[in-house]
Amino acid sequence: MLVVEDDPISAIISTQALSDIYDTHHVSDGRAAVDFCLMTPPDLVLMDINMPGISGLEACGILKRNVLTKDIPVVFITAASDPQSEDECWDAGCVDFISKPFSIKTLRHRVNSHLSVKILTDELKRLATSDALTNIKNRRFFDEYFLAQSKLAARNREPLGLLMVDIDYFKQYNDTYGHIKGDDCLKVVADALTKAFVRPTDCVARYGGEEFVVVLPSTDLKGMQHLGKYLIEIVHELKIEHLGSPFKKLTVSIGGALVEQGEEQVENAIEQADKQLYTAKRQGRDKFLMA
Ligand code: GH3
Ligand code: MG
Ligand code: MG
Repeated sequence: MLVVEDDPISAIISTQALSDIYDTHHVSDGRAAVDFCLMTPPDLVLMDINMPGISGLEACGILKRNVLTKDIPVVFITAASDPQSEDECWDAGCVDFISKPFSIKTLRHRVNSHLSVKILTDELKRLATSDALTNIKNRRFFDEYFLAQSKLAARNREPLGLLMVDIDYFKQYNDTYGHIKGDDCLKVVADALTKAFVRPTDCVARYGGEEFVVVLPSTDLKGMQHLGKYLIEIVHELKIEHLGSPFKKLTVSIGGALVEQGEEQVENAIEQADKQLYTAKRQGRDKFLMA
């Protein structure tokens, strides 16, 4: 957690009161607090209001307006106790405030309860957006992420790529090696696909069954051609035996599409990629096709 306090004595008191239970960092002004939160988002910010430069209220407002930092709970420590000052704290977007003077016990209890809510919320969010078997992002996350990225791409006039990856002859894999081995195989493939992408905005998700999708912001046709072939190779390199397949090892088929225009094109792109995937299957599998 982060303690934002310009008065050194108060900073030491707060930090020491919490450092035996939490990993506690300290910065002395609002600007440094915002920078810290962008670099290493803490689970909670304990923020003084009156500081040199931008005030705690302003710093809180900046955090709340940025998607990257808006979910970090902010608790103000305030010397003012009039109703108007309290309202200003709520309006800035805090989850709570503690009025000076306070007891160390109150500080610890308040911080404890806000942190447990934050940790539970984070875990719920993670569970809701990840696939239980493979631990990668799930279909629900993909639907939201792809739509959000298509809006961004339209606004920035950037291309947006989509790949649909389907394991070949996977029914035969289960029939040959059993469902448990089938599950293991899905995990290995999910892991390999995820590791193949390095840009933080690239996203691999399990679309369903033995089918995966990859969202590729700022990727043009040339990039897509390269990545599609690259993924086919990555799966070859896993060298997973599959005696039920004519290739005798595990392969995938991939269909690709580009979203050129934005939001209304999302469903169209999925349809296009799916069509290419279907054609790749018909043409013998272990192939990447793109319109
Ligand atoms: P194609 O080459 O045309 O893609 O054929 P396929 O056999 O891969 O495709 P099909 O859609 O006929 O079968 C998909 C199989 O994937 C059937 C299903 O049992 C298996 N499958 C789907 N989800 C899971 C899973 O979570 N675990 C395991 N082990 N198998 C799964
Ligand atoms: Mg398949
Ligand atoms: Mg399938």
